[in-house]
Amino acid sequence: MYPAKFDYYRANSVEEALDLLAAHEDAKLLAGGHSLVPVMKLRLSSPAALIDIGRIDALKGICKDDDGNVKIGALTTYAATAAANGGTPQAVTETASIIADQQVRNRGTIGGGCAHADPASDMPTVLTALGASFSLASKDGMRDVGATDFFTGFFETDLGEQEVMTTINVPAEGAGTGSAYMKLPNPASGYAMVGAAATITANGGTCESIGVAVGGLTAGPVKCSAVEAALVGKALTQENIAAATNAVLQDVAREDASGDMHASAEYRHAVLPTFIYRALTAAAERAMASGEGDDLTKIEGVGPKVAEILSNGGLRTFAQVAASSSDVISALLRDAGSAYNRMDPTTWPQQASLAAAGDWDALKTLQDELDGGRA
Ligand SMILES: Cc1cc2nc3c(=O)[nH]c(=O)nc-3n(C[C@H](O)[C@H](O)[C@H](O)COP(=O)(O)OP(=O)(O)OC[C@H]3O[C@@H](n4cnc5c(N)ncnc54)[C@H](O)[C@@H]3O)c2cc1C
Repeated sequence: MYPAKFDYYRANSVEEALDLLAAHEDAKLLAGGHSLVPVMKLRLSSPAALIDIGRIDALKGICKDDDGNVKIGALTTYAATAAANGGTPQAVTETASIIADQQVRNRGTIGGGCAHADPASDMPTVLTALGASFSLASKDGMRDVGATDFFTGFFETDLGEQEVMTTINVPAEGAGTGSAYMKLPNPASGYAMVGAAATITANGGTCESIGVAVGGLTAGPVKCSAVEAALVGKALTQENIAAATNAVLQDVAREDASGDMHASAEYRHAVLPTFIYRALTAAAERAMASGEGDDLTKIEGVGPKVAEILSNGGLRTFAQVAASSSDVISALLRDAGSAYNRMDPTTWPQQASLAAAGDWDALKTLQDELDGGRA
């Protein structure tokens, strides 16, 4: 089907978008268009005017503020979000990398997905668990709304008709914190039939703080305070995680779950604890693995200052450097300034992999070979 006729305007700044919203009744903002255009084609929505904000560069990109929060521009695509480093929680980057296909990820924006608030979408659940907030601009100024207040129901948010979402604010993931998102995907579309997200900060193997949320089976994301209360202050053992998992049945009653032709409400509710367990286990493992950090200066070529740059970029352990690529490391060095952008990190993941395995003899042999090659 074709959409109903509409007028098209392009905004080059947030101020211009707000002016256009005020000037045109029944107008809608257009970002990547991956949710709005399909619903217009189905005539589920027929706005009189579209205001294209897709070229406002000020709403794109990811940075950290002075308080250590990660600020994600509302127009940042999933592809750019998936490639983020520097403290962006792993649950955010990983989730961005599994949403839809590459084409959708190249155009679809994190802000557009959240404003659309499809109950089966992934990022609202993740952002609710992480305690994120949304910055919204209007002609009256800016306001910040926490995720638990932002998502108000089935395709519903607190976003006013005269507001533009500018930024999503997420607490940075530092040492000792790990996060994860686990979903049961619809086999055809990939949307979540059940999704569970968790962030855990560990201290000496104990859960110091925690955030958990679920979605997919409910009208919007649900913050799981019963699961959180069951694990905070406890040792992060399998038994304690399993016990906390069952508390999700207090957070989401059977009547809160809905089903469709892909999976019944009963089925989704029955498998929910499994996905909570997986998210809690992965977040706890990541939190404990990222705790202390390793002495990265054991990697030849890495001095104390470079170790700090890697650590600030989320690479604190040998395992994290080993799992990274020299391209990602080069990008961190480039961002750190001209003194570092000529460094060659090609062998660092390989060296880190030997260090992570505790194979110090092999690491020494490799480093001697590298020295020999340079002599
Ligand atoms: C084939 C396919 C598969 C998909 N699979 C998944 C999946 O597995 N998981 C998942 O989570 N999602 C999935 N999606 C949905 C996808 O995430 C969304 O379509 C996309 O994020 C929407 O972003 P957009 O920039 O295209 O928004 P648009 O379609 O442009 O806008 C969506 C809505 O948000 C409003 N809006 C946009 N930006 C702003 C802003 N800055 N301020 C205020 N309002 C705004 C618009 O007015 C509109 O109402 C899939 C989509 C497709 C097409």
